[in-house]
Amino acid sequence: MTLDVAWAVDWVRASAATVVEHRDELVELDRQIGDGDHGENLKRGFTAVLAKLDALEAPPATIGDVLKLVATTLMSTVGGAAGPLYGTAYLRAAKACGSSSVDSAGVVALLEAGLEGIVARGKATTGEKTMVDAWSPAAEAAAKASADGAQPAQVLEAAAVAAAAGAEATVPLVATKGRASYLGERSAGHLDPGARSSQLILEAAVAAADRAA
Ligand code: ADP
Ligand code: MG
Repeated sequence: MTLDVAWAVDWVRASAATVVEHRDELVELDRQIGDGDHGENLKRGFTAVLAKLDALEAPPATIGDVLKLVATTLMSTVGGAAGPLYGTAYLRAAKACGSSSVDSAGVVALLEAGLEGIVARGKATTGEKTMVDAWSPAAEAAAKASADGAQPAQVLEAAAVAAAAGAEATVPLVATKGRASYLGERSAGHLDPGARSSQLILEAAVAAADRAA
């Protein structure tokens, strides 16, 4: 089984829906350890992505085309740290997916490229209370599931479950990157907003894959 361009478009639309739905939660999480703009930043960005998708004259030819549209739109509309971080993630993922469908190994390549983009841009490693703490276990779990012979939807499911655990595990961490690091020890005891939004985006990928089945 493979996932196609329609899945990628559905994933992006579902990402927009979940980001809009969780806007207030993401704002509140960012209010606790940042400046309270994460939910609004992502809502603005993904709303712009939807407008771009709706304005396309022809459906995108490849999954990479879909992800590149997301990348360029988020980079120009999100602002803050998350704009360039997610923008680079989608751009790298786009480069890893130049075809019209992905198999399980392709899903792993997509997720690993996204993680590499975030790390290249933000220079964070795991344990620094950032979105890397969701993406890194997600990519790892995806690779393991794929090696075990899982179908693409199950690979994404494994990634989303690991991202959820990784996001939850940011609560006790002290932030050492990004705005939350200004709080030092006081950043402990709060869920990282970027890890939470990353979890939501990966869960949207699963929902889209389930609909494609
Ligand atoms: P800002 O911090 O500029 O207000 P956002 O609120 O949109 O930007 O995004 C904050 C999120 O960005 C954090 O919760 C964290 O997950 C992520 N982040 C910040 N700095 C980094 C970094 N250097 N590497 C990875 N992720 C980071
Ligand atoms: Mg912020």
